[in-house]
Amino acid sequence: MRIGLDFDGTLMDIALAKQAYIKATWDIDLTIAETGRAGALPVLGEERYHQMVVATHRTEAMLDTPEVPGALDVTERLLASHDVVVITARLDEEIELAREWLRRRGLGGVRVVHTGWETKRAAWEEHRTDVHLDDTPLVLTHHPDTMVPALLHTPYNASLERCAATRSVEDWLTFERLVATLASEA
Ligand SMILES: [Mg+2]
Repeated sequence: MRIGLDFDGTLMDIALAKQAYIKATWDIDLTIAETGRAGALPVLGEERYHQMVVATHRTEAMLDTPEVPGALDVTERLLASHDVVVITARLDEEIELAREWLRRRGLGGVRVVHTGWETKRAAWEEHRTDVHLDDTPLVLTHHPDTMVPALLHTPYNASLERCAATRSVEDWLTFERLVATLASEA
């Protein structure tokens, strides 16, 4: 199977980093569910929201942000029998930190593709991705018909609209089982 994995919020627990930064910088308590754009922007306002995004995505502090539980172990196991590509919407100026985050966790050999402001569709088509795991429902709506869009459940995406084909997975172990099922059907 050719597997695509998102980075922020899927491999790296960006919501924890946002929550911690907002607390440390402005002493504002947000729940994890409120750390997404829809929750945080009205509270912080444009300027502070942008500052928070830059700090949590583009500074070295990001390298200490923990994994989403299970992400590293499952990715290592998937690598043993599948073709895995990290497909992230990070920008040119943000991508090296993501690569370094992966390197420090023993995943420096994984291919990383970044799409910037474009949708991920061209990357999925180029890599002929069979299944892609992401934490943003909107990203998955651009999926090719040949790809299974898998949404990693989080408190901040629970109520967001998703496309009909979306397969919701509770956690990384559930995703690993989905991949096994898809592989057995292929
Ligand atoms: Mg994401």
